[in-house]
Amino acid sequence: MTDETEIRAAIIAQCRAMNASGLNQGTSGNISARHGEIMLITPSAIPYDAMTPDMIASMPIEGEYGAWEGPKKPSSEWRFHLDILRARPEVGAIVHTHSTYCTSLSIARMGIPAVHYMIAHFGGPDIRCADYALYGSAELSAQVLKAIEGRNGCLLANHGMIAAGKNLAQAMWLAVELETLARQYWHALQIGKPVLLSDREVREAAEKFGVTGYGLEG
Ligand code: 13P
Ligand code: ZN
Repeated sequence: MTDETEIRAAIIAQCRAMNASGLNQGTSGNISARHGEIMLITPSAIPYDAMTPDMIASMPIEGEYGAWEGPKKPSSEWRFHLDILRARPEVGAIVHTHSTYCTSLSIARMGIPAVHYMIAHFGGPDIRCADYALYGSAELSAQVLKAIEGRNGCLLANHGMIAAGKNLAQAMWLAVELETLARQYWHALQIGKPVLLSDREVREAAEKFGVTGYGLEG
């Protein structure tokens, strides 16, 4: 198992990378990673440039819900991070951003349909948008769990997006792909009515990618 200090440092490196690339801005967004029985998560409202590995908060995944250790309090969104890790044993890391195109679609309360075959990496032929609820609330986490069911990502109404991967690198890769899908969909909507891929076409792409656990609804 990777050393805890390495994971703490890797979380901060991913935070800085997501802001440097323009995927996220300011102290918005947060990142968590599973480490055995605990969740390591960014502290709340600390600029990523000022964040040091000791500031990453630690929370038990099972056991007392909401208990935490650290010099700084955990991200205000610890609930949806923890609830996803509890519900999805295959998930090892979660990235939440306020990336522009995902957030813009979420403001229109739109999900992302099968506009590009890369959507096959997300576990199904669409990305859902979770209903609006106050940031950091138990209600938001409940809506997120519904929207992300059977998927590796979702949008959050009037808020942003979440990507969940097997490790930090994969979660960040999915976050970039999710924002790319949103940007492509947004641009395609400007020039006409997008033609969507069929469930079969997305499934074929998933099979060719070797995506495991791919499931279509209905
Ligand atoms: P935190 O700084 O508490 O992680 O909050 C950022 C955010 O994106 C809330 O939704
Ligand atoms: Zn947020």
